[in-house]
Amino acid sequence: MIDLKEKTAVVTGASRGIGLEIARVLASRGANLAIIATKENEELASSIEAEFKVKVKSYACDVSSSETVDSTFKNIIETFGAIDILVNNAGITRDGLLMRMKDEDFDDVIRINLRSVFLCTRAVARHMMGRRQGRIINMASINGICTQAGQANYAASKAGVIGITKSNAMEFAARGITVNAVAPGFIKTDMTEKLNEETISKFKEAIPVKDLGNPRDVANLVAFLASNEARYITGQIIGVDGGLNA
Ligand code: NAP
Repeated sequence: MIDLKEKTAVVTGASRGIGLEIARVLASRGANLAIIATKENEELASSIEAEFKVKVKSYACDVSSSETVDSTFKNIIETFGAIDILVNNAGITRDGLLMRMKDEDFDDVIRINLRSVFLCTRAVARHMMGRRQGRIINMASINGICTQAGQANYAASKAGVIGITKSNAMEFAARGITVNAVAPGFIKTDMTEKLNEETISKFKEAIPVKDLGNPRDVANLVAFLASNEARYITGQIIGVDGGLNA
């Protein structure tokens, strides 16, 4: 039984999709939450707080900016007293063929998907090292392992997330901090809503379990990796993809 009572988790990109489900599942296990998105959402924080009887605060923070990340994490530590779990989930896509990809489409994806992991991890590293405990879970993607045309920016960002996960796991292992990444396949969220019906049915056909994943499928793994039960697991990239990368 995963028990996260007395723990505080920070979840980035928690306003919707996978991040929101991660926040809800962690709260259902007793964790207090700092939820981050581009805008503050007090209504959402209050509804999770009321449903699961945990403390939840919402923060507006651009996770790709070191200034806002450093001040937000300082604020969270002051408000909650500690951070035990960091879930680096925020992410975007700006798909397009390389020949037509604009500079900002490449840079925005690298900034929001990869630089954010560096910034948010650096913002908690000293704090977690001092407490000699911590769980860091990064949202990679199957696209960081095997990918397709039109996703040079996204695939590069997620391959980068895999690299930073492994390096940080080595750096923090002796300090009681584990660092792992989750690599979802095709999960039903706003991000995948943008794809047309034809692409979705092609994916369904290719997935061995013949179904798309739900945010809950990803969130359940994150909750396990955040728990004491996962203490001996670090530096791993774990797929939640219905067998797509088997
Ligand atoms: P989503 O529904 O589009 O949600 C993205 C989240 O990221 C939102 O909460 C958004 O906040 C937040 N965000 C975006 N830019 C941000 C910024 N600069 N600062 C702070 N927050 C920001 O996406 P999703 O499908 O749940 O994906 C979540 C993660 O899983 C991403 O890292 C994605 O790459 C990864 N993933 C998804 C799939 C899939 O099939 N869906 C597969 C593999 C990996 P706002 O609401 O404020 O914009």
